[in-house]
Amino acid sequence: MKSKWQEHKQSVAETARKMAELGLVVGTAGNVSVRLDPEDGRDLMAVTPSDTPYENLTHNDVVVTDFEIEPVEGSLLPSSESLLHTGIYQGRPDVHAVVHTHSVYSSVLAVSGINLPPVIDEVVIYVGGEIKVSKYGFPGTPELARNVCEALGDNKAAFIANHGAVTVGSTLEEALSVCLLVERACQIYIMARSLGQVVPIAPEFVSAQTAIYRLKNLHDGAGDPW
Ligand code: 13P
Ligand code: ZN
Repeated sequence: MKSKWQEHKQSVAETARKMAELGLVVGTAGNVSVRLDPEDGRDLMAVTPSDTPYENLTHNDVVVTDFEIEPVEGSLLPSSESLLHTGIYQGRPDVHAVVHTHSVYSSVLAVSGINLPPVIDEVVIYVGGEIKVSKYGFPGTPELARNVCEALGDNKAAFIANHGAVTVGSTLEEALSVCLLVERACQIYIMARSLGQVVPIAPEFVSAQTAIYRLKNLHDGAGDPW
């Protein structure tokens, strides 16, 4: 029987497969979710299953849970980082999709405890200002979720200390493209630092770009993400 959430579940599976194809994760690492319309006052999401390889993932494998991580549809266990996903949705009504990866260059900053400063125009405009490394939290715990939400703030990306990255968007396409943008920016930043010099963007331009970011967000958040 066709699930009423079939299209959303298909999009989650497709995004997870792309995340693996793009080399943003290996094995069963990382996870993807999308916010669903609430039902009977219950907030819902469709999320990738835990510990399941992405290559052949289909909509049948994707799990629907409420924000207490109570199962609603699907036979597999939901991602062990489900609390991270629901924590972000609860704090950020503008967010409709979350992608968590273990991508290499983002993880280099996450391991080094180095924030990505506002040094690349497109990152400030599309992702927000400084991209921060969270405080450490053990994988899968409410503490990790809290710490990452704090580092995320109003931005579209954060680094998870000693772990990886999380990116968000009003759609799955946006969350994945932010992930690629941040990964590339981290690579550039790490290479520039290795040359010994990084020239910051002047504060007045960072302020102007941040204002554009906020306006874009207001505009995107107002529309139907589907
Ligand atoms: P899951 O397979 O449970 O989603 O966990 C992967 C992961 O990235 C844990 O942090
Ligand atoms: Zn992880």
